Amino acid sequence: MALLSIDNIATAYDRIDVLHDLSLELEEGRITCILGANGAGKSTLIRSILGLTPPNRGDIRFAGQSLIGLPTHRVIAQGIACIPEGRRIFPKMTVAENLRVGAYQVADPAEIARRADEVYALFPRLKERRDQLAGTMSGGEQAMVSIGRGLMAKPRLLIIDEPSLGLSPLYVKENFRIIADINQLGISVLLVEQNVHQTLAISHYGFVLSQGRLVAHGDAKRLSENDEVQAAYFG
Ligand code: ATP
Repeated sequence: MALLSIDNIATAYDRIDVLHDLSLELEEGRITCILGANGAGKSTLIRSILGLTPPNRGDIRFAGQSLIGLPTHRVIAQGIACIPEGRRIFPKMTVAENLRVGAYQVADPAEIARRADEVYALFPRLKERRDQLAGTMSGGEQAMVSIGRGLMAKPRLLIIDEPSLGLSPLYVKENFRIIADINQLGISVLLVEQNVHQTLAISHYGFVLSQGRLVAHGDAKRLSENDEVQAAYFG
């Protein structure tokens, strides 16, 4: 059974359709990417999954259970965490405080500390800087805070929206390596990106969106060798 299955959804803002009869499936344990140029509908797909802009038609199932009609906090409680585009950390809070916010559904302080230790093991830099105000860190470090905060919820599926946006090439590389490490821990990842090459390099499977429609999908390796897809959708 697919971990996430999107079945023929249509999503609109006001009355303008943005996603048209979109279907896709994510297998558990993998990194699946959604690629597409500006305006392809990638963020709208995330909004549909999270129940922020629910689809008008179709079904979205997570671990076999429909998410349609659930408010966002209940979608998240099923085991889905989302790291938004632009990172949105809390700048006036320390690194450690930012992480704690990500575990707001957990009451036990020992469990929160255990999860923070797991995040610090992935990001030693955050451990060194746990008491620094997050807003004073570099863009790449803030990206780590944002991913770490998502991990504090111990999600079964981590959705990451354009993690490479606005980062220097060095941090992009490091962040992608970390996303692969997170997947190695057994967390399924849905990676939404415009950065085609590096995304396909760490993904197992990819879907390509254009103007709200699915135009290609396949094993990441095959997609990265598909010149037609590359030329048509990524220039
Ligand atoms: P980007 O990479 O630039 O974030 P995207 O692939 O995520 O692009 P979306 O943000 O999903 O694309 O946008 C898809 C279409 O929906 C675009 O035509 C956009 O103008 C439109 N759209 C997005 N948000 C809204 C909104 N709140 N109200 C009306 N139209 C919107």
